[in-house]
Amino acid sequence: VKRIGILTSGGDSPGMNAAIRAVTRVGLNAGLEVFGIYNGYKGMVEGYIEPLTREDVSEIVNRGGTILGSARLPEFKDLEVRQKAIRQLEKRGIEAVVVIGGDGSYRGALSLTEMGINCIGLPGTIDNDINCTDFTIGFQTALETVVDAVDKLRDTSNSHHRCSIVEVMGNRCGDLALWAGIACGAEIVVTSETGFDENEILDRLRDLDLIRKKKHAIIVISEKITDVHQLAKKISLNTGFSGRATVLGHIQRGGSPCPFDRMLASQMGEKAVDLLMQGIGGQCVAIHDNKIVSYPIEKALCMPAESRKPLTNLFERLG
Ligand code: ADP
Repeated sequence: VKRIGILTSGGDSPGMNAAIRAVTRVGLNAGLEVFGIYNGYKGMVEGYIEPLTREDVSEIVNRGGTILGSARLPEFKDLEVRQKAIRQLEKRGIEAVVVIGGDGSYRGALSLTEMGINCIGLPGTIDNDINCTDFTIGFQTALETVVDAVDKLRDTSNSHHRCSIVEVMGNRCGDLALWAGIACGAEIVVTSETGFDENEILDRLRDLDLIRKKKHAIIVISEKITDVHQLAKKISLNTGFSGRATVLGHIQRGGSPCPFDRMLASQMGEKAVDLLMQGIGGQCVAIHDNKIVSYPIEKALCMPAESRKPLTNLFERLG
């Protein structure tokens, strides 16, 4: 290969820029030409594609978001739309592409590979919801943001005999909630893996209030499980705590990437370029047991979630 493209797709995450920088610099240093494809697959179809120089990726390793922009383009599932995208790449002589995003973006990358453009996926999402990798780029930074927010909520809920319910992201993956729950010493964690039983939570809170004499309680809950404001009302009505809900929202997607995410992005970017230079496509890069590895995207997409039992047990044992 002589010319490769790079794009970011789906929800953004801190560390995407570090990955863009790594792919660009490693690629240029290996004698490749590197092209930035703006706004994900949308820019690929529209031909919003520009060469990237070393300088274009200066001073971004520490910046959140993505300099290439991201977008969603559901029509990319249509063959004709992808054919149009491929014509845009062919016009510029781009033979291979690095796609940074979540599993939806991986599906697009796989389809393109099947149509003759080798693609490599990098896991860019704060949700840690890609099963083949222990960590996605952005998860650790988002965890720091959540921990910081919960620590602050703890101070104020302590003073007011409050139960703070903190809703965090994760897109059906409970890692952000569980890791934050352990790191913050939360009283209760609710994820799709733990299940949600409202009465059990109310019982637990009455116990914490009346028997354990706790001054406050923190519940960390994953998004898409229940209406946290309604839950807060029920807590105020049915327990001695005054319930308050905080939805952290998109704050979790922002901020300067932590060193771990910068390292992960740099190592994964390097791996992506190495794979493309070997003529390999249709794979995604992962970190497993501290090693940078890659798997066929097809296989990665149907890997079962690693058991979260050990951490769930730890959380229980810390209570
Ligand atoms: P994420 O990559 O974070 O999971 P999405 O699921 O929104 O985010 O996917 C990002 C983009 O990837 C979509 O907007 C679409 O352009 C493309 N995509 C998703 N699923 C497919 C698919 N099955 N085939 C081709 N492209 C897809």
